[in-house]
Amino acid sequence: MALSGIQIYKLLPQTNCKECGFPTCLAFAMKLAAKQVELSACPYVTEESKAQLAESSAPPIRLITLKSDSYEVKAGNEVVLFRHEKTFYNKPGIFIKITDNLTENEIKLKCQEADSYEVNYVGMNLTIDGFAIEGISGSHENFKTAIKAIRSVSKRPLILINNNPEFIEAGLECIKGETALVHGADINNWEKISDICKKYSCATTVISNNLDVMAELAEKIKTKGVEDLVLYPSQTDLSSSLFLNTQIRRLSIKKNFRALGYPTIVFPTNQVTAVQAITKYAGFIVLDSFAKELLYPLLVLRQNIYTDPQKPIQVTPGIYEINNPKFDNPVLVTTNFSITYFSVANEVESSGIPAWLLVADAEGMSVLTAWAAGKFDAERIAKAVKGFGVGDKVSKKRIVIPGAVAVLSGELENELPEWDIRVGPREAVDIPKYLKLAL
Ligand code: SF4
Repeated sequence: MALSGIQIYKLLPQTNCKECGFPTCLAFAMKLAAKQVELSACPYVTEESKAQLAESSAPPIRLITLKSDSYEVKAGNEVVLFRHEKTFYNKPGIFIKITDNLTENEIKLKCQEADSYEVNYVGMNLTIDGFAIEGISGSHENFKTAIKAIRSVSKRPLILINNNPEFIEAGLECIKGETALVHGADINNWEKISDICKKYSCATTVISNNLDVMAELAEKIKTKGVEDLVLYPSQTDLSSSLFLNTQIRRLSIKKNFRALGYPTIVFPTNQVTAVQAITKYAGFIVLDSFAKELLYPLLVLRQNIYTDPQKPIQVTPGIYEINNPKFDNPVLVTTNFSITYFSVANEVESSGIPAWLLVADAEGMSVLTAWAAGKFDAERIAKAVKGFGVGDKVSKKRIVIPGAVAVLSGELENELPEWDIRVGPREAVDIPKYLKLAL
């Protein structure tokens, strides 16, 4: 049972040494009770207390990890209901469904295409996470052949979909040593599915459209020694799916209801359901098919939802070459907020004009925000110019600052007296025109 903040406090050293980042042990205990910190932040907890606190410090949603060869997909370990309260940690794994009624060749072609799909979004490579193979042919042999066909072209983790325990066991034999997810255990087959998952060290879904039944079933499966569970509230319409996924998240985070403290899986039937699953609150998402135009926005949405709101995505400060610049090409300066960097870099690249792009360390903030916060000023820009040896790369010492911080030009002239300070456009989209006409 979860301990209260006061109960936790009694098990802490009570020295108020502040090393955990909180002014007192009581403040830390309160945060621990609210699942907003981890016990490991206090280095002085005794082993005896650790054992007693384990329950309270365990994340309210169990971490489930699917593994294959060199890939891992993690879901769970979330501690908040809303992203702005802290952050979401493990983005939902996106799996592509393949059915075993296809020929071996068709399966390989489909998997290859999805497996090799990769898009670069603000410096990050986004891909799918795995495949879900569904046995609909009614033949074990087809099921096994389909799994082997996937494995011959992709090493990504698998979800095996079949309610017949014999099919599941035959499938798991083909991928021995991997941690797959079995879909799944319901009130009819849970005992056999549990035995198989225990034998092959796999996770299983728990299927029900009723949360009371699901909680009871999850507890029963646990007694069979299977701890890694994924919940499938099997209501597929938009509002029921939203309601059940939200209830599960609320019960586990707010009420610490361990029987439902697991990630969920969603099988979206359209793009809207998939968007809903990413935002609230799927741990695994199985898409019916692979289509780049549908997948790309989902991958970007997922990336945006699962970044820490307190840590903007950043690029490394430095001097970047665009379109093979030479000595006489201009230097543009911007901040290291990823979206700012890529907006500017893309516009310079698309202009076809060679340029140097100096990225100053502005703690990951965009131009105006950084300027307002005192993180992007003449001193910092001058420091970046000198620190990255920009003067050695160009013969004409011209530097273009963003139009939004034109106010810095005077101060920058004082900081860099031998440089010609130019004020560029306010918006990145106007950079190509500026490069062509103004320089
Ligand atoms: S580090 Fe531990 S002992 Fe020190 S204040 Fe935090 S909880 Fe108390």
